[in-house]
Amino acid sequence: MAVTQQQLNDWQQKYPLLSDVMDFRPVLWLNPNDTKSSDLGQLAVTKEDMQGAEELWQRFAPFLAIAFPETAEAGGIIESPLKEISSTKNIIETTYSTKIPGRLLLKCDNELAVAGSIKARGGFYEVLHHAEQLAMENGIITKGDDYRKFASKEFKDFFSQYSIGVGSTGNLGLSIGIISAELGFSVSVYMSADAKAWKKDLLRSKGAIVHEFEGDFGEAILEGRQQTKENPMAYFVDDENSKHLFLGYSTAAFRLKKQLDDLGITIDAEHPLVVYLPCGVGGSPGGITFGLKQIYGDAVHCFFVEPTHSPSVLIGLMTGEKEKVCVQDFGIDNLTEGDGLAVGRPSSFASSISEKLISGIYTLEDEELYRLLAILADGDDIFVEPSAASSLLGPVKLSQEEYLSARGVDPDKAVHIAWSTGGALVPEENMQTMYQRGKNLRE
Ligand SMILES: *Cc1c(COP(=O)(O)O)cnc(C)c1O
Repeated sequence: MAVTQQQLNDWQQKYPLLSDVMDFRPVLWLNPNDTKSSDLGQLAVTKEDMQGAEELWQRFAPFLAIAFPETAEAGGIIESPLKEISSTKNIIETTYSTKIPGRLLLKCDNELAVAGSIKARGGFYEVLHHAEQLAMENGIITKGDDYRKFASKEFKDFFSQYSIGVGSTGNLGLSIGIISAELGFSVSVYMSADAKAWKKDLLRSKGAIVHEFEGDFGEAILEGRQQTKENPMAYFVDDENSKHLFLGYSTAAFRLKKQLDDLGITIDAEHPLVVYLPCGVGGSPGGITFGLKQIYGDAVHCFFVEPTHSPSVLIGLMTGEKEKVCVQDFGIDNLTEGDGLAVGRPSSFASSISEKLISGIYTLEDEELYRLLAILADGDDIFVEPSAASSLLGPVKLSQEEYLSARGVDPDKAVHIAWSTGGALVPEENMQTMYQRGKNLRE
């Protein structure tokens, strides 16, 4: 759909914040459709689906432990630590002249084994789900079997008849490429122009076929989808509309609950959990929000984070048009250094759920990504990618807007979690350059 000038004017009238968004000004948008748990009704996925997804992870754990020895110690469960980042919190408070009441923790998906980003959750899950489906349809596995069979030559030969395709700005391609190649699939990754060279090189070294495109992520997906569909033996992982990616992400909530329990942290109405999730198409933050809402209900508040140049989910939810509009329709260029966030159009599947569940979205400038990256490195010696660092500004935004106190909650009792979505695979040299850039901005 092409957006007309008249429509733009109408929307700007109706949603005053939209003009700021179109002028690339950082904003905090509160979701007027945030719905109480008791009024939610039926969503497109259920807690049972999420439980089913967790069971699939458990079935595949023995395979993952063999395929990726670095996960053996954790029994083949791919999970990341939750860390308190007190020194970083102090630096953020002085840098932004804002007191952050409550505790600040970092969910370290930048350390997620094998794929080094949050995409290990959704991407691995969808490919494992597809592989299990194929194996069951062909009668070579049942759910009660020992899944170490997936590491056998017989299984790899079986999967080599099939292909997997995916469109990606980088991280999704990495996760799909790595797991698909390991299972024996032939895998093609369709990458947008902004994908980093090291990501393409790494993928090729794992045996994936990399197709490069001049255009942005939306175009890479379009091309990938078309080419994959021409092959009857191929399966396309569709980031713009995937229930399986969503479910793979959602299971993070079970694990986070256990980590909070282990730290003796109780979450309830008086002690809310506030979570900040970097957002591209909205799949990973949407899945995790869905999962956390199943567990904590109204006691958890989830905020998405987008660059001022790629506010696709913000515009989609603010106008209610979701995947029908893209940022370019609003004169926004979709150019950002935040890998994984450079997305012009939201996922239709995820947006239809997130529109009822999230508390809001804030945007920030690319410069801020680098500044926060350096603050986290200096504060707690943790190195993440720029997109991941975006989550650290959340507590500042909320504190400045008095979000919690306006809702009758004592901000001192809140637990904030910044979700650090990626970083482990970034080559040392690239990380140093990014750190220096952020360090210079701090001075
Ligand atoms: C993909 C990605 C995101 C956002 O996930 P979406 O599902 O696209 O919303 C955030 N951070 C990083 C590092 C990513 O790779």
